[in-house]
Amino acid sequence: MKNHCCEDMTFHANFKCEIHENPFECPDKIIIFYEQNNDYGLIIHDGGMSIISIDFCPWCGSKL
Ligand SMILES: [Zn+2]
Ligand SMILES: [Zn+2]
Repeated sequence: MKNHCCEDMTFHANFKCEIHENPFECPDKIIIFYEQNNDYGLIIHDGGMSIISIDFCPWCGSKL
């Protein structure tokens, strides 16, 4: 489990739902972290696979 900038980000980036295998289908999953390019995205639950790339942590404000 990777540690992120703060406790909230660590929780959400590592969060894995037991019900929804696809993170885009889970209403509880809001942050997706792509380890390959160190990219953070905010999941838009519009029924598709939309994300908004974020450069700053929504909780602590750190540069990601
Ligand atoms: Zn943070
Ligand atoms: Zn879920």
